[in-house]
Amino acid sequence: MLAPATDAALIILLSLDARPASVVAALKELGLDVEVLHLGDRTGLYARDPRGELPAESIGRIAGVERVMSLSPRAPLALATKGREGGGIAVGPARFGGGFVSVIAGPCAVEDGESIKSIARQVAAAGATALRGGAFKVRTSPHSFQGGGIEALAELHAAAREVGLSFFTELTDPRQVAQAAELVDGIQIGARHMQNFPLLLEAGRTGKPILLKRHMAADVDEWLLAAEYILTTGNERVILCERGLKSAESHVRYLLDLGVVPWLKQRIGLPVIVDPSHAAGDWRLVPALARAAIAAGADGLIVEVHPRPETTRSDALQALPPADFKRLLEQVRALAALDGRQLASLETADAVGG
Ligand code: PEP
Ligand code: MN
Repeated sequence: MLAPATDAALIILLSLDARPASVVAALKELGLDVEVLHLGDRTGLYARDPRGELPAESIGRIAGVERVMSLSPRAPLALATKGREGGGIAVGPARFGGGFVSVIAGPCAVEDGESIKSIARQVAAAGATALRGGAFKVRTSPHSFQGGGIEALAELHAAAREVGLSFFTELTDPRQVAQAAELVDGIQIGARHMQNFPLLLEAGRTGKPILLKRHMAADVDEWLLAAEYILTTGNERVILCERGLKSAESHVRYLLDLGVVPWLKQRIGLPVIVDPSHAAGDWRLVPALARAAIAAGADGLIVEVHPRPETTRSDALQALPPADFKRLLEQVRALAALDGRQLASLETADAVGG
């Protein structure tokens, strides 16, 4: 088992009125190795916890301690992925990173076997490499459509296989994982479940690629710690997905944080994709946000597409008609090529054996 994150090494700034000797004694009593640091007119301590057990927070309770800074990264497994990107993460013909951009597309929810097959054909023809569709929907109201469950999952599986796409679907409860894992190619963890830790662990243990959405109020640290839960299971196939944050604004459903894409890519090796649909909440805004995401360096997109949005039972306003989606993918292909990347397709998958 991989080692958990700890606060093994700390820098401690003492308050001006502290008695350094008594703080040092208190720390030693807790089993820490301590060195005194002379910092101009201030005194600091460098402390190491050989057992790696004591959180920085507890040290902050000792009289005379002003501030505590941990020198150990909080998400070491996520940071360790940097430099190990390799060929990116392949999910059937889809490939995220390693010079490839992939697009996942489909309806918000699977409605019936025939309509999901028709959408699968249309998104595949436009250039998507993975199908999406919700079987277990997370709805704000318990009175809204909750998804078709395991039956819908089987329909999604059949539709994807018929056209040679891989597919992602959201799981919302650890109890769904074992049965669903027999069918799914990639497991989506929705924004609202980003901190459902038992779900993260259970999904991680399947070894399947995990699409981890950022909660709409989560900072990057919380998001990476959620990824860290999956990584502790030994599953390194984690794809991060930015989908917009709650903000003071109401002209868009959520405020899409595109700055986080290059920020993350400079620090960690996991692919980062963007969901412009749930961020915008309006199909007219989706293509612009999607193009901006690719220009910011995103390794892919997940886009809601529906040929007859007026008939859908969830997220009707943000579903892109197939013709608009096709046009968008041509633009994505061109934008990816600008920085030497390639839009993965059913043909490139054959060529690279993915
Ligand atoms: C979805 O992808 O259908 C969805 C509900 O997204 P999110 O978890 O980002 O709200
Ligand atoms: Mn949706």
